[in-house]
Amino acid sequence: MSHLKEKGIRITETRKAVVSYIIDSDDHPSAEMIYKDLLPNYPNMSLATVYNNLKVLLEEGFVTELKRANDNTTYYDFMGHEHLNVICERCGKITDFMDVEIPSLKREAHEQTGYRITKELLTIYGICPECQALES
Ligand SMILES: [Zn+2]
Ligand SMILES: [Zn+2]
Repeated sequence: MSHLKEKGIRITETRKAVVSYIIDSDDHPSAEMIYKDLLPNYPNMSLATVYNNLKVLLEEGFVTELKRANDNTTYYDFMGHEHLNVICERCGKITDFMDVEIPSLKREAHEQTGYRITKELLTIYGICPECQALES
């Protein structure tokens, strides 16, 4: 939560709840899933509030948006621990790909282009092992 304060982001009770939810989630939740799970503890919260919070977190690079094939829902993921998401184009499963050298990727991007890198939005798509097994 402290890195939110450093960036001068106002931390409301609901924002704290949304952030904690995404950090604790092993899954890649949609805004609706977050809303439904938090509602019992935050009965005054609306789905729009969840979306607004996600928008701020997205702009600051704390969460990333994920899209599955054949699915208009947006899923969210906390990017605190460096990883990339691999999404199956058949079944839509989202799998974390850990130990990615994202900092060195950003350094390389800066060195090659001279840009000051602010954030990265990388998603890898493919066919998961289960769907590959169904193909053969
Ligand atoms: Zn699959
Ligand atoms: Zn992930």
